Amino acid sequence: MTPRDPDCLFCKIVAGEIPGDVVHETETTLAFRDIQPQAPTHVLVVPKAHHPNAVATAQADPQLMVDVVLAAGQVAEQQGLVERGYRLVSNTGQDAQQSVDHLHLHVVGGRALQWPPG
Ligand code: 5GP
Repeated sequence: MTPRDPDCLFCKIVAGEIPGDVVHETETTLAFRDIQPQAPTHVLVVPKAHHPNAVATAQADPQLMVDVVLAAGQVAEQQGLVERGYRLVSNTGQDAQQSVDHLHLHVVGGRALQWPPG
């Protein structure tokens, strides 16, 4: 059974209990538009199973981490980001301002992005 946290926002989106603007889905992942987009394209790719961050996911289920990265690549292709490039971001912990403790890769693109991030 897919591990799930009943208090987790992204688990609720995965379960369809909270609406999400879904753009891509696989057996193990879901991708939906960020509610506060920071670029013309800003999609969040999550595993359907609850894991708090990227490292925890890779430790618990390495193939699932691969699934999430491959899904992010498919989203980038679907959204027309591959030619110009895009950013995959995984904020982890307080200093990185992670606000939802369920792994999500931000797929951000559609404009020239600045570096370093703030
Ligand atoms: P973090 O800050 O944890 O890296 O990213 C969490 C992201 O989730 C933020 O970019 C935020 O805008 C997004 N977010 C927060 N609540 C919702 C929601 O209810 N629906 C969607 N689609 N995105 C959300």
